[in-house]
Amino acid sequence: MVTETAPKAGERLMSQPEIQQYVKSVEGNEPQTIYCLLGPEDTDGFDNYGLPSQCLPSILPMKLAEKKADGSPVWSLQDPGVRPESGHIQCLLHPDHPNREIYRAMGLGTCKKENIKNEYERELHMQTKHKREAAVIKSYDEKEEKRKAMELQTRIAEAMAGKLKEPEEAPLYVSDKPKVKRRKRTKKET
Ligand SMILES: [Zn+2]
Repeated sequence: MVTETAPKAGERLMSQPEIQQYVKSVEGNEPQTIYCLLGPEDTDGFDNYGLPSQCLPSILPMKLAEKKADGSPVWSLQDPGVRPESGHIQCLLHPDHPNREIYRAMGLGTCKKENIKNEYERELHMQTKHKREAAVIKSYDEKEEKRKAMELQTRIAEAMAGKLKEPEEAPLYVSDKPKVKRRKRTKKET
Protein backbone atom coordinates (compact mmCIF):
# COMPACT_ATOMS: atom_id res chain seq x y z
CA MET A 1 0.00 0.00 0.00
CA VAL A 2 1.32 3.39 -0.92
CA THR A 3 1.05 5.92 1.83
CA GLU A 4 1.36 9.56 0.97
CA THR A 5 1.84 12.37 3.38
CA ALA A 6 -1.11 14.71 3.06
CA PRO A 7 -0.14 17.96 1.36
CA LYS A 8 -0.19 20.94 3.67
CA ALA A 9 -3.03 23.41 3.20
CA GLY A 10 -2.79 25.32 -0.05
CA GLU A 11 0.43 23.68 -1.16
CA ARG A 12 -0.92 22.86 -4.55
CA LEU A 13 -0.51 25.29 -7.40
CA MET A 14 -3.91 26.48 -8.64
CA SER A 15 -4.48 26.23 -12.36
CA GLN A 16 -5.08 29.41 -14.35
CA PRO A 17 -8.80 28.60 -14.88
CA GLU A 18 -9.20 27.99 -11.13
CA ILE A 19 -7.51 31.30 -10.39
CA GLN A 20 -9.61 33.16 -12.96
CA GLN A 21 -12.75 31.62 -11.51
CA TYR A 22 -11.77 32.73 -8.02
CA VAL A 23 -10.94 36.27 -9.16
CA LYS A 24 -14.31 36.49 -10.89
CA SER A 25 -16.05 35.48 -7.68
CA VAL A 26 -14.49 38.37 -5.76
CA GLU A 27 -16.94 41.19 -5.18
CA GLY A 28 -15.77 44.58 -6.37
CA ASN A 29 -12.15 45.39 -5.82
CA GLU A 30 -11.98 44.08 -2.25
CA PRO A 31 -8.39 43.19 -1.23
CA GLN A 32 -7.99 39.47 -0.55
CA THR A 33 -5.89 37.86 2.14
CA ILE A 34 -3.23 35.52 0.83
CA TYR A 35 -0.68 33.58 2.83
CA CYS A 36 3.00 33.33 2.09
CA LEU A 37 4.33 29.77 1.93
CA LEU A 38 8.03 30.66 1.90
CA GLY A 39 9.78 29.02 4.80
CA PRO A 40 13.40 29.40 5.90
CA GLU A 41 14.44 26.62 3.51
CA ASP A 42 13.17 28.70 0.57
CA THR A 43 14.66 32.02 1.53
CA ASP A 44 18.07 31.52 3.09
CA GLY A 45 16.72 31.32 6.59
CA PHE A 46 14.09 34.05 6.38
CA ASP A 47 10.82 32.60 7.64
CA ASN A 48 7.62 33.97 6.13
CA TYR A 49 5.60 30.75 6.23
CA GLY A 50 1.98 31.53 7.02
CA LEU A 51 2.41 35.28 6.92
CA PRO A 52 -0.83 36.93 5.74
CA SER A 53 -0.72 39.65 3.13
CA GLN A 54 -3.36 41.82 1.46
CA CYS A 55 -3.64 41.58 -2.28
CA LEU A 56 -5.83 43.38 -4.84
CA PRO A 57 -7.87 41.03 -7.08
CA SER A 58 -6.09 42.39 -10.17
CA ILE A 59 -2.75 41.21 -8.77
CA LEU A 60 -4.05 37.82 -7.53
CA PRO A 61 -3.46 35.83 -10.76
CA MET A 62 0.16 36.88 -10.74
CA LYS A 63 0.69 36.12 -7.06
CA LEU A 64 -1.07 32.75 -7.19
CA ALA A 65 0.97 31.72 -10.22
CA GLU A 66 4.27 32.38 -8.44
CA LYS A 67 6.18 29.14 -7.97
CA LYS A 68 9.00 28.01 -5.76
CA ALA A 69 11.93 26.13 -7.27
CA ASP A 70 10.12 22.81 -6.61
CA GLY A 71 6.96 23.94 -8.41
CA SER A 72 4.82 24.43 -5.32
CA PRO A 73 3.06 27.78 -4.88
CA VAL A 74 4.58 30.77 -3.10
CA TRP A 75 1.16 32.13 -2.09
CA SER A 76 -2.04 30.46 -1.00
CA LEU A 77 -5.61 31.59 -0.41
CA GLN A 78 -5.82 29.02 2.35
CA ASP A 79 -4.49 29.87 5.78
CA PRO A 80 -1.90 27.21 6.59
CA GLY A 81 -2.74 27.86 10.21
CA VAL A 82 0.75 28.72 11.37
CA ARG A 83 2.65 31.99 11.62
CA PRO A 84 6.37 32.54 11.25
CA GLU A 85 8.37 32.62 14.44
CA SER A 86 8.34 36.15 15.63
CA GLY A 87 11.04 38.67 15.77
CA HIS A 88 13.33 38.50 12.80
CA ILE A 89 11.71 40.47 10.05
CA GLN A 90 13.82 43.28 8.69
CA CYS A 91 12.89 46.90 8.10
CA LEU A 92 12.28 47.60 4.41
CA LEU A 93 15.28 49.92 4.54
CA HIS A 94 17.59 47.23 5.87
CA PRO A 95 20.94 47.08 4.01
CA ASP A 96 20.25 43.41 3.14
CA HIS A 97 16.84 44.07 1.59
CA PRO A 98 16.64 42.62 -1.96
CA ASN A 99 15.57 46.03 -3.30
CA ARG A 100 18.35 47.89 -1.53
CA GLU A 101 20.08 49.04 -4.71
CA ILE A 102 16.80 50.37 -6.10
CA TYR A 103 15.98 52.15 -2.85
CA ARG A 104 19.46 53.61 -2.69
CA ALA A 105 19.05 54.95 -6.21
CA MET A 106 15.78 56.58 -5.08
CA GLY A 107 17.70 58.33 -2.31
CA LEU A 108 16.40 56.26 0.60
CA GLY A 109 18.65 55.78 3.61
CA THR A 110 19.12 52.56 5.55
CA CYS A 111 17.78 51.23 8.85
CA LYS A 112 19.23 48.22 10.62
CA LYS A 113 16.14 47.15 12.51
CA GLU A 114 15.67 43.41 12.02
CA ASN A 115 13.71 42.15 14.98
CA ILE A 116 10.24 43.05 13.76
CA LYS A 117 7.61 40.47 14.64
CA ASN A 118 5.39 40.48 11.60
CA GLU A 119 4.34 42.26 8.44
CA TYR A 120 1.81 44.37 10.31
CA GLU A 121 4.40 45.64 12.76
CA ARG A 122 6.79 46.32 9.94
CA GLU A 123 4.12 48.48 8.34
CA LEU A 124 3.69 50.27 11.67
CA HIS A 125 7.45 50.74 11.97
CA MET A 126 7.59 52.13 8.42
CA GLN A 127 4.73 54.55 9.10
CA THR A 128 6.14 55.84 12.37
CA LYS A 129 9.89 55.84 11.66
CA HIS A 130 10.10 56.26 7.89
CA LYS A 131 6.88 57.90 6.73
CA ARG A 132 8.38 59.60 3.66
CA GLU A 133 10.33 56.49 2.62
CA ALA A 134 7.25 54.31 3.12
CA ALA A 135 5.30 56.50 0.69
CA VAL A 136 8.09 56.35 -1.89
CA ILE A 137 8.34 52.54 -1.56
CA LYS A 138 4.56 52.16 -1.79
CA SER A 139 4.36 54.09 -5.04
CA TYR A 140 7.33 52.10 -6.40
CA ASP A 141 5.64 48.79 -5.44
CA GLU A 142 2.38 49.84 -7.06
CA LYS A 143 4.13 50.73 -10.30
CA GLU A 144 6.04 47.45 -10.25
CA GLU A 145 2.89 45.40 -9.64
CA LYS A 146 1.11 47.16 -12.48
CA ARG A 147 4.08 46.58 -14.75
CA LYS A 148 4.22 42.88 -13.80
CA ALA A 149 0.49 42.45 -14.26
CA MET A 150 0.74 44.04 -17.71
CA GLU A 151 3.66 41.79 -18.55
CA LEU A 152 1.69 38.72 -17.48
CA GLN A 153 -1.29 39.77 -19.57
CA THR A 154 0.91 40.33 -22.57
CA ARG A 155 2.46 36.89 -22.12
CA ILE A 156 -0.93 35.22 -21.78
CA ALA A 157 -2.20 37.06 -24.86
CA GLU A 158 0.88 36.05 -26.82
CA ALA A 159 0.58 32.44 -25.72
CA MET A 160 -3.09 32.36 -26.72
CA ALA A 161 -2.31 33.85 -30.10
CA GLY A 162 0.34 31.21 -30.55
CA LYS A 163 2.86 33.90 -31.06
CA LEU A 164 5.41 32.72 -28.55
CA LYS A 165 8.70 33.62 -30.02
CA GLU A 166 11.28 31.00 -30.81
CA PRO A 167 14.26 31.26 -28.50
CA GLU A 168 16.85 33.50 -29.97
CA GLU A 169 19.78 31.91 -31.66
CA ALA A 170 22.78 31.31 -29.50
CA PRO A 171 25.38 34.00 -29.94
CA LEU A 172 28.41 33.15 -31.99
CA TYR A 173 30.99 31.34 -29.99
CA VAL A 174 33.83 33.65 -29.18
CA SER A 175 36.90 32.12 -27.65
CA ASP A 176 38.31 33.93 -24.69
CA LYS A 177 41.58 32.12 -24.92
CA PRO A 178 44.50 34.40 -25.66
CA LYS A 179 45.51 34.22 -29.23
CA VAL A 180 48.61 32.20 -29.84
CA LYS A 181 51.24 34.47 -31.18
CA ARG A 182 52.86 33.09 -34.21
CA ARG A 183 56.51 32.87 -33.76
CA LYS A 184 58.41 35.07 -36.03
CA ARG A 185 60.00 33.11 -38.69
CA THR A 186 63.67 33.49 -38.60
CA LYS A 187 65.75 32.78 -41.53
CA LYS A 188 67.67 29.66 -41.17
CA GLU A 189 71.27 30.41 -41.28
CA THR A 190 73.12 28.02 -43.30
ZN1 LIG B 1 13.44 51.01 9.95
